[in-house]
Amino acid sequence: MKQISTFGVSRYQIGDLQLLRNADDDTTIAKLLAPCPIMQLEADQAVTESSRARLYIVLRGSLSVATDTRTGMADGTVSKILPGESVGEQSVLDEEANLSSITALEQSEVLVIEADIVWKLIDESNVLARNLLRLLSFRIRAANAQLRRRQKLGEFYRQLSMIDGLTGLYNRAWLNDLLPTMVATAQGSHAPLALIMIDLDHFKQFNDSHGHLAGDQALRAAAHVLSSALRPTDFAVRYGGEEMMVLLPDTSDKVAVAVAERLCERMQQAVVFADMRVPLPQITASFGVATLQPGQDEQALIAAADSALYRAKDQGRNRVVHHALAV
Ligand code: GH3
Ligand code: MG
Ligand code: MG
Repeated sequence: MKQISTFGVSRYQIGDLQLLRNADDDTTIAKLLAPCPIMQLEADQAVTESSRARLYIVLRGSLSVATDTRTGMADGTVSKILPGESVGEQSVLDEEANLSSITALEQSEVLVIEADIVWKLIDESNVLARNLLRLLSFRIRAANAQLRRRQKLGEFYRQLSMIDGLTGLYNRAWLNDLLPTMVATAQGSHAPLALIMIDLDHFKQFNDSHGHLAGDQALRAAAHVLSSALRPTDFAVRYGGEEMMVLLPDTSDKVAVAVAERLCERMQQAVVFADMRVPLPQITASFGVATLQPGQDEQALIAAADSALYRAKDQGRNRVVHHALAV
């Protein structure tokens, strides 16, 4: 940064400075500003930050201000400072060195006001104090709005990371997150909770005969059977590969078995299209049903449904077996 002038002998006026708008005829202010240096910056040149806090006001050209990630407001936001606008007010007020990195976007002239002069200006001029308050309140609002946007975005990505990309069902991460709570809630309120474990039948063969893409279509069709048949309070999860799971809160043994029977029936009716012309053979699945027993945790509940599923496979597939009831 090269000093080319001082404010007093330059062609710039107090009215050019946003922070001092409406203080044009104030001679005390003019006197305080007169010795302040005007620095020239070339394009891409950084404002060399001194360890002292200072206020910078752009007179000509423009600056880019990138907020530092160490501040906690962390987002690497870049804002553009235009003629008349300032940067560094906050660091002057709280006496913290400015952590932003400030560079010129083009050849620019910048008025540099040291902190002690800023304080004198505040003492002397109500107009400056008012303008400063207005500016800070605007900055706080903008920062809050940004924070809210980022929170929303974060929530969006969190939800996205809980959804299986192929089927649109919840994924294993969702299950790991939610099932322990569902089990604890059900145990705590002595409410029933049913779990159905579902595995497509001879799916390796389906893939081998019709190709992996057709297999993916079949998986989507199977997932659709689940998601379209359930109540809003039920959940369908892709447990992994061609295994899916349905969680039914507040659902007794009998009802859970009836739901599984209905899903089993609909599964064989589902039509799988590899493309729009050739329908593929029907798919079937086997279903293992278990209901939460007193003292059981989520692992034990899954294991019970899994062993029922194993029996359904053993008994010939395309059927429902309940862990404890003879179906
Ligand atoms: P079973 O009736 O005993 O369950 O037989 P299976 O052939 O279904 O069982 P196996 O575990 O041997 O094979 C599962 C197959 O599922 C193999 C794997 O290629 C297929 N599969 C798993 N995930 C996907 C997927 O995302 N897309 C496709 N197309 N196939 C998948
Ligand atoms: Mg399997
Ligand atoms: Mg299978």
